[in-house]
Amino acid sequence: MAKVLGKYRFVTNRVVSNKAGEGTGRVKAYVPVDSDIVHIEYKCPECGFSEKTEQEWKRPFNVKCSNCGYLMRIARLKDQIKKEKKKAKAKKK
Ligand SMILES: [Zn+2]
Repeated sequence: MAKVLGKYRFVTNRVVSNKAGEGTGRVKAYVPVDSDIVHIEYKCPECGFSEKTEQEWKRPFNVKCSNCGYLMRIARLKDQIKKEKKKAKAKKK
């Protein structure tokens, strides 16, 4: 793991959901140290299209399917956890 951290400033491997909320897609991405380019490998949860691509690294980090145009939002893990907590709270009411 320490090796990976030395090479990349950002790494993720995330399940992404389609419009129905099913986690049928995946995004793997990494940004090398000293680079502003994010290397992405994704499988679109909407249409199943998969591709390797690159784009400029910026937050918020989103990946757009080049086949159907579906936008995969890659939230910060921290924000995602917050969201889920909020959701759980809302359900209790
Ligand atoms: Zn797609």
